[in-house]
Amino acid sequence: MTSKKDIVEMLRLRGEAKQRLHREACEIRDSRIGKKVFLRGLVEFSNACGRDCLYCGINRSNDSVKRYSMSVQDIAACVDEAYAVGYRSFVLQSGELRSEEFTSYVEEIVSAVMASHPSAGITLSCGEQSDETYIRWRDAGAKRYLLRIETSNRRHYEILHAKGADFDDRLRCLVALKELGYQVGSGVMIGSPHQTIEDLAGDILFLRDMDVDMVGMGPFVPHSNTAFGGFPAGELDLALNMIAVLRKTMPTINIASTTALETLKEKGRQLGLMASANVVMPTITPERFRGDYLLYDNKPVSSLDLAQILNVAVEGIESLGLEAALGESGDPLHFLERKNHG
Ligand code: SAH
Repeated sequence: MTSKKDIVEMLRLRGEAKQRLHREACEIRDSRIGKKVFLRGLVEFSNACGRDCLYCGINRSNDSVKRYSMSVQDIAACVDEAYAVGYRSFVLQSGELRSEEFTSYVEEIVSAVMASHPSAGITLSCGEQSDETYIRWRDAGAKRYLLRIETSNRRHYEILHAKGADFDDRLRCLVALKELGYQVGSGVMIGSPHQTIEDLAGDILFLRDMDVDMVGMGPFVPHSNTAFGGFPAGELDLALNMIAVLRKTMPTINIASTTALETLKEKGRQLGLMASANVVMPTITPERFRGDYLLYDNKPVSSLDLAQILNVAVEGIESLGLEAALGESGDPLHFLERKNHG
């Protein structure tokens, strides 16, 4: 089994050795799960948030954010439009509110999407919630849930979050989601303030030990209106190496090539695929809201329409000799294996 020290060494690789690492990871991806890249339409349906994560641009203390919550009807329409061009899986993401009102709002959204598209894969990414809430959303039809641990180092977690955020609560949520039968995704920010390379190696081992099905991780990118606005962004090569090392550690999970990569470098998402990611999540948020969901500065806000955004993503995938798996919901092989053995 790979040790923390070995992982640190791999994360430090640059130049030719780094390219070799990425190639090896891609060979593992191709032989274990194939050359298919799954597409998820990302709907950032609300930026209302009750949390104060110190890195995040839509945290509750940022009063320069124009808050919005899309109507259930608008969300359903946006999913319909994306379905028509070939998406079969959707990530519904928002800030985090904990109230009966928010729970039933999300429940209605999921029910509305399921009513029109019963075979669609719905992933929710709406933060920490009670077991009861997770149960209601699952029963409405959500099968996947994304909740990043952000950092697996408890002390570091406390540095990244305002008082009141509890590492154990986050862990409890991840365990509950799994027990409730969700396909569970987690991940971390790479190069966040006060993080060490040993922390990142620990993150890989954490994701392995949690036996997650999906991972989304990307570089930290500062947002000027937050406590961490003055910190530098995470390093691209480090983020790419994290993807490659994770693939070597967990060959059959889904790994997303995230938008934050694209923020650091044009075509950064393609670099993520070349480091062995197998999922991309183009935004399908209606244009009038895109500019208000700014988790960090310089987040690319496209003025293209949904079909054009998809075309760009598909071309990017195909230019690498990979296949854009349109029309597929894209369950992670890891989840199917876990279910068969469990
Ligand atoms: N509220 C939900 C989902 C929205 S935030 C939740 O907390 O799970 C989605 C992800 O964006 C976070 O998990 C975090 O990893 C990432 N993010 C937030 N601010 C960021 C920043 N400044 N740089 C990079 N990633 C960031």
